Amino acid sequence: MALADALRVLVIGAGGREHALATKLAQSPRVSHIFVAPGNGGTTFDKVRSVDISGDNFPALVRFAVENDVDLVVPGPEQPLVDGVEQHFRKVGIPVFGPSAKAARMEGSKSFAKDFLKRHGIPTAAHKAFQASEYQQALDYVRSCGHRVVLKASGLAAGKGVLVPETLAETEEGLKQIMVDNVFGSAGETIVVEEFLEGPELSVLAFSDGYTVVPLPAAQDHKRIGDGDVGTNTGGMGAYAPAPIATPEVTKAITEKCLLPTIVGMRKEGYPFVGLLFTGFILTTEGPKVLEYNVRFGDPETEALLLLLDEESDLAEIFLACVERRLDAIAIKTRNEFAVSVVLASAGYPGSYAKGVPITIGQIAAGVSIFHAGTAVQDGRLVTAGGRVLVIAAAAPTIEDALARAYAAVDQIEFEGKTYRKDIAHRALAAKGPAQGSLTYA
Ligand code: AMP
Repeated sequence: MALADALRVLVIGAGGREHALATKLAQSPRVSHIFVAPGNGGTTFDKVRSVDISGDNFPALVRFAVENDVDLVVPGPEQPLVDGVEQHFRKVGIPVFGPSAKAARMEGSKSFAKDFLKRHGIPTAAHKAFQASEYQQALDYVRSCGHRVVLKASGLAAGKGVLVPETLAETEEGLKQIMVDNVFGSAGETIVVEEFLEGPELSVLAFSDGYTVVPLPAAQDHKRIGDGDVGTNTGGMGAYAPAPIATPEVTKAITEKCLLPTIVGMRKEGYPFVGLLFTGFILTTEGPKVLEYNVRFGDPETEALLLLLDEESDLAEIFLACVERRLDAIAIKTRNEFAVSVVLASAGYPGSYAKGVPITIGQIAAGVSIFHAGTAVQDGRLVTAGGRVLVIAAAAPTIEDALARAYAAVDQIEFEGKTYRKDIAHRALAAKGPAQGSLTYA
């Protein structure tokens, strides 16, 4: 049975991704209330309210949802999904746009995901997994395998947990760090040693109801803190879409050889995927290969990608179509434009940084979105409250225009220590790839 209108939606999370989701949901005429738990300094506006409940307090979230007649729950981050938030709401009959704990293992355990990929013949890097007790075997393996490898802690490590050593000596040192020194804690109890793949990276975010999969335009993000992709890895400093390297042939290969077999395979194995599947790829000379699965929206890809959804493609309706297993019956259309997101971070991020720094936002041109991430309102003033503070997103018919609009807004925002990358989308600009046609995935 379809849910009624005047929908009440609970979004779980506190970042720019959740602010962007709430903003897009608020545009739906079908949605009357949006609660964001715990939200941030930007998630109280129009029909949107921050709710002071932590994203890991499942009993309190369920109680709130029941008491406030919530019709749909949208978890933002991976941790609650991996921890089984979906079944807590299922027990009280509230649908969740997001996978079950079993399906969330695709992100929660890299070794589980690698075995799945292998079982289903989905293109991916060759790998071997080792338990903590098998340090010597892992060492023997990297010495004997004859190619460069990547070392991955199998469990969730908050976007870290991957080492990309360049030499055998560095590889041996990395193995010791993960398997002996436990630098990734329990996430590193199982380690995946993976063949190093050469080529550009792509992120594809796709809606699924367990049967149908509908990808959004491919995005590229910027993980390193510094311009030119130097410095420490971060949660992400900016993104853009569509990536010109995602030609129609690449998109076809990604959908047919990777995404569809994933969705079909998961359903056949008894844990259908309902929600947003975010797959990371490397475009090798042999075609796209899967690097990893994430079982939720990416941040900061989401802030850019949601701007590309056509007005007729109502996000609440898409979420409902997924939970009601009728995604094949709706059309999801994207605009023939480029979207970019630029993260403004606190000085010191991703290391330690100050909090409580006052933020001023000047004149922002119409059509540019300012999404809050690590912000709070203190004594009526907007202040910093996290590493990634704000995400500026804009869309335009050309990537140059989208960037000009976003960076003009960046200049209107001040806080002490404001740190951001000035080269978002540099790969697209360098490639100046084919003009984008209309990307419609009906
Ligand atoms: P992951 O969390 O698995 O996406 O890995 C984090 C980053 O490590 C990726 O975005 C890539 O830049 C790099 N990486 C992971 N696996 C590989 C691989 N097999 N070959 C080359 N680079 C990789």
